[in-house]
Amino acid sequence: MNVSNPTCPKCNSANTCEIIYGYPADEEEYLKLVAEKRVYPGGYCIDDDSPAWYCNDCESKWGELNLDKIDSFDFDQGFNIEEVYD
Ligand SMILES: [Zn+2]
Repeated sequence: MNVSNPTCPKCNSANTCEIIYGYPADEEEYLKLVAEKRVYPGGYCIDDDSPAWYCNDCESKWGELNLDKIDSFDFDQGFNIEEVYD
């Protein structure tokens, strides 16, 4: 569980979630997290200006994605982000 989500820089809401990139290994779990707004599906492509955070209230996206961190990303849910790298 991520308990340290930042507040939204636009509306100051704490109702934010991490943007997940890549294809989920466990799609059912992934869709459940998306439905619960605990993660936001960022798609399959990551580039230099891909945002890291999503606001559930005003739908803004912001933040800098740490690609080094992504590389060692180890979600308990078992997302497979290896697919991101072509
Ligand atoms: Zn917001």
